[in-house]
Amino acid sequence: MHTVTLIPGDGIGPSISDAAVKVVDASGVKISWERHEAGMAAVEKYKDPLPKSVIESIQKNKVALKGPITTPIGTGFRSVNVALRQEFDLYANVRPAKSFPGLNTRYENVDLVVVRENTEELYIGVEHYIRAEKGRHTAAESVAIITHHGSERIARYAFEYARKNSRKKVTIVHKANILKYSHGLFLDTAREVAKEFPDVECADKIIDATAMQLVLNPNVFDVIVTTNLFGDILSDLTAGLVGGLGVAPGANIGYEAAIFEAVHGSAPDIAGKDLANPAAIILAAVMLLRHIGEVTAAEKIERAVRNVIKEGKKVTRDLNPANYVSTQEMTEAIVARL
Ligand code: NAD
Repeated sequence: MHTVTLIPGDGIGPSISDAAVKVVDASGVKISWERHEAGMAAVEKYKDPLPKSVIESIQKNKVALKGPITTPIGTGFRSVNVALRQEFDLYANVRPAKSFPGLNTRYENVDLVVVRENTEELYIGVEHYIRAEKGRHTAAESVAIITHHGSERIARYAFEYARKNSRKKVTIVHKANILKYSHGLFLDTAREVAKEFPDVECADKIIDATAMQLVLNPNVFDVIVTTNLFGDILSDLTAGLVGGLGVAPGANIGYEAAIFEAVHGSAPDIAGKDLANPAAIILAAVMLLRHIGEVTAAEKIERAVRNVIKEGKKVTRDLNPANYVSTQEMTEAIVARL
């Protein structure tokens, strides 16, 4: 029996989290879910978007499945997602993008993984206004910090991931031609780490060329390792290559804990309408199961999700706008396939 912290989240979060729990439980693996609220639900109940009980539960269980959490833009509380990453030093954000047979996408056979540095650069939360004129803010500054330590550990994670998962190549993606110091440090450090992995091919590419190449020929990539902001953007792009946010899972990995989630957000536009695709969070649960060693259940669930998508009859609106079913019906179809 494993104990896993479950954070249902906001918007579509509770309904897709319920779907993931249903599917994982039906696979036969024994998990005791420790449910904790964070985000808007926690603000309403406890006046705190990230109550201490959530932190304590993850500290104890070391693994969590998390629904998306709303972050109000501009004002309001700080992102719970960023706070969790910092609290548990979840330095590696792993976002696989693998084609789904049956989905109408531009390319077939895309199979790549974006490994995004998750704790540094423009996401450290150091921002301020630096000028005001006539009572208005007229200039702002965001600080991006890249360290040797942060670059080294994310590069090592990417190369070890490649080796462990029989992947052949790691591409270091950067903007060192312009950001000579910060991205220069990232690139130099990652190249150093690459020397320890002679069995894995190492390439490097500037972010703009990478974006173009991903659209023209994504199959030249295998594992991509990159900085925080570029990783955030590229992983949405790669999700788009294989069918969109509804099918894109992600993992946030640290030395002490790991949090698994869908790449997408709380989708307020479809919340409460039973339209959300549960596949992304179910596939995040698949990554979680692999992480805790439940490989057979993970494979069984992944196969079931892929088969339901391939068949195309019991999928949500984002995958088949002409003929779709509800979140619940798609979940039941996946359970039936187990
Ligand atoms: P979003 O990912 O919530 O939605 C973007 C679009 O994709 C919307 O049209 C939405 O309906 C659709 N979509 C997303 N998930 C879907 C699913 N499972 N099935 C079908 N369609 C789906 O992005 P957003 O609207 O920019 O953000 C909404 C909120 O989510 C914001 O507060 C943002 O900060 C937050 N957010 C949270 C996380 C997280 O918790 N990890 C990640 C991204 C955004």
